[in-house]
Amino acid sequence: MRIAMISEHASPLAVLGGEDAGGQNTHVAELSAALAAAGHEVRVYTRWDAVDLPGTVRCPDGYEVVHVPAGPAQPLAKDALLPHMREFSHWLTDRWRGDQWTPEVVHAHFWMSGLAALAAGRKTGVPVVQTYHALGVVKRRYQGVQDTSPARRIGYERQLGRSVDRVIAQCQDEVGELVRMGVPRSRMTVVPSGVNLRTFAPLGSAAERDDGRPRILTVGRLVERKGFQTVVRAMAHVPEAECVVVGGPPAGLLETDPYAGRLRALARTCGVADRVRLAGAVPREEMGHWYRSADLLVAAPWYEPFGLTPLEAMACGVPVVGTAVGGIRDTVVDGVTGDLVPARDPRALGAAIQRLLDDRIRRFAYAAAALDRARERYAWAATAERLVEVYGDVAAVGRATRVVAG
Ligand code: UDP
Repeated sequence: MRIAMISEHASPLAVLGGEDAGGQNTHVAELSAALAAAGHEVRVYTRWDAVDLPGTVRCPDGYEVVHVPAGPAQPLAKDALLPHMREFSHWLTDRWRGDQWTPEVVHAHFWMSGLAALAAGRKTGVPVVQTYHALGVVKRRYQGVQDTSPARRIGYERQLGRSVDRVIAQCQDEVGELVRMGVPRSRMTVVPSGVNLRTFAPLGSAAERDDGRPRILTVGRLVERKGFQTVVRAMAHVPEAECVVVGGPPAGLLETDPYAGRLRALARTCGVADRVRLAGAVPREEMGHWYRSADLLVAAPWYEPFGLTPLEAMACGVPVVGTAVGGIRDTVVDGVTGDLVPARDPRALGAAIQRLLDDRIRRFAYAAAALDRARERYAWAATAERLVEVYGDVAAVGRATRVVAG
């Protein structure tokens, strides 16, 4: 099939770890690669956000990235992109209407991509599949006044859910949220994200551990809701271990990062500064090297729409201690592939980490079960296949509707 991916702010080519570059970038890159490997023609449309970018990039993984001129050719925070979505959709419409490449289906990632995809899709007869990746209602609930999303986000997300041809929910928690928002269950299909089983595997190099302490790894963009403060506080209850935090700006820029500064200050207050290390951003290809160096992955977000890092750790055969939120409740089976604890509870988190560090046999059993689960349920090839079924369905309905209408 000819498949268009729209990912307005999250380019599959971006360097990850920064404030707006994380799971969605990985998801779009891996899904596009898996679809291309299965013989589909994939183009990813993302905003042109630097003057020196070429219009089109052919990726070694077999798909194309097309840079769409919408707004200034410079990085913008994703919360500032809404005013440029009209230009984005006009550009897509012109492209798809011309005699050039027209997709059979468009898969939008994040709500603003959905708006652009829906407008262009309506004008050109291309059906739209929507993955939200994150929901405004959830963000508002947890971040309150600190939520900088455009005011109309929640309304747009509801409207999108009722207008697109299919909504892909990534976990059961998201299904519940969408139903409560008023999106009909009949419009949804649950297809979780996948994990790259070549990049993330138990065998391979591992980052060095210098002082023989057990290693807790935690990974993500350095933003408050990822719960790194809870992890730092929990370290006070885990006296022997070290904690490595991967993510944020590149190591050289960590000194000036305000959130990194707060984490360091907190570590000093908790008396764990000598056991907490910030490693900065790590290229995606090197992430396996870090996971494999750890005894445990800790994922302690306040909320998590899906959460790729627990799954990546599992695929490396690393057990997870996670908070019982969002997608983590689907990927981590409590007491089988890891342990789940309440969010924002350093004492419970510390106790779960310590218990697992003290119990080698349990750790080994979790690791084996985690690896099995990642391989059996979350291979990208299988995820891509399930999505192709959805794409085929919506394209067929679209064709039938056009025949009846015509
Ligand atoms: N990641 C990375 N380098 C870093 C930090 C994170 O490649 O320094 C990747 C990580 O491996 C994962 C993604 O960024 O694939 C984060 O996804 P997740 O779903 O955990 O969080 P999100 O960023 O979507 O909130």
